[in-house]
Amino acid sequence: MLSAKSHTLREFDSAVELDDRLDRVREDFPILQQSVHDQPLAYLDNAASAQKPRAVIERIERFYEQEYSNVHRGVHALSQTATDAYESARNTVRRFIGAGSEQEIVFTRGTTEALNLIAHSYAGPRLQPGDEILLSMMEHHSNIVPWQLVGERTGAVLKVIPIDADGSLQYGTFQHLLGDRTRLVAIAHMSNSLGTINPVREMIRDAHAANVPVVVDGAQAVPHMRVDVRELDCDFYAFSAHKMFGPTGIGVLYGKQGLLEEMEPYQSGGDMIESVSFECTTFNRLPHKFEAGTPHTAGAIGLSAAVEYIEGVGYDFIQAHESRLLAYADHRLSEIDGLRFIGRAPERAGVISFLLGDAHPYDVATILDRFGIAVRSGHHCTQPLMDHLQIPGTVRASFALYNTLEEVDRLCDALKRAASMLL
Ligand code: PMP
Repeated sequence: MLSAKSHTLREFDSAVELDDRLDRVREDFPILQQSVHDQPLAYLDNAASAQKPRAVIERIERFYEQEYSNVHRGVHALSQTATDAYESARNTVRRFIGAGSEQEIVFTRGTTEALNLIAHSYAGPRLQPGDEILLSMMEHHSNIVPWQLVGERTGAVLKVIPIDADGSLQYGTFQHLLGDRTRLVAIAHMSNSLGTINPVREMIRDAHAANVPVVVDGAQAVPHMRVDVRELDCDFYAFSAHKMFGPTGIGVLYGKQGLLEEMEPYQSGGDMIESVSFECTTFNRLPHKFEAGTPHTAGAIGLSAAVEYIEGVGYDFIQAHESRLLAYADHRLSEIDGLRFIGRAPERAGVISFLLGDAHPYDVATILDRFGIAVRSGHHCTQPLMDHLQIPGTVRASFALYNTLEEVDRLCDALKRAASMLL
């Protein structure tokens, strides 16, 4: 698992070898070559959305230039080509996350829609008044609000797993909260605000021992670590293409086949049906039952190109390089007087959240932007977490496979300038 602790070059002979690979990776991302405010762009907002390699951009272009048509049902050649490309994208995703069957891979608009689908089609029909959904203090709004709404409809209630001061989930309390009334656990694999990696494998084991299914919000995890849904044994796993170097508007819901079979459709209309009459409709087989309407074909194809890109670069490189980036950023940023880290869990990846004295995060981010450094400021769609920490938000620098140690140096220098202006 990737963390500041496991700062290691793993199988790479040396930092020089990692740097060579990094140079080649950076050349794959055209947008990184640009300047912002006359400074080279340092893009440290990857937790919000990651940049796209040429392989993804060109694959989407090729689809529209040479292969485009609507998918399914068409007998003409282009319809077959587009359908093959779409369904082979599904197979690429299946292989990537280690799912057993393509029927378990549902394309959605993203993590948010995947979580809404589960809330609507799995939780809604099953929850009773007083039933409990367990989630954590660090969840993204997308993994809170759908459960809240389904709770309002059914009378189910949310139970919140607390966190320690360093941003680690209180695992013992989770075990304690898992009770007779628990019907579902919904948990982020990795926190977008703190970088904390949660012990999802252990949580799934405990939940299953209590006969409770687990939904994992994998939006932040997939760009940083290899995910194998069968190894995790999660019941549902949701993620978004745009955070893993793919296009916006497309994401994935993995669900165990038995659960998906039992679930009612989410949206209805074309493509999700087997037959329709004015009296009665029967639904298509999985996964099409959950994909109403013309799908985001180019998105799915772009996502599969992103998967192939990640596989080509390799998680060995990603983890070795990002571990040293995070460790270096921890070290350099701790030099800055008045900087307070938010989130120091031992198991952490890709994200450094902090405050600079009593300066507002927006002011800090605005100054960093003048130095060509893109970071995010605010509550990062985790308002309950910010309320718990009693802060308005944080400044968040988030890393991806193409970030450099020099960018960390520039971040550090710019923060020192910001501190001299604001504090
Ligand atoms: N969960 C987490 C942990 C996230 O970081 C995000 C995106 N910030 C989401 C869910 C929602 O993802 P999307 O907006 O792509 O649906």
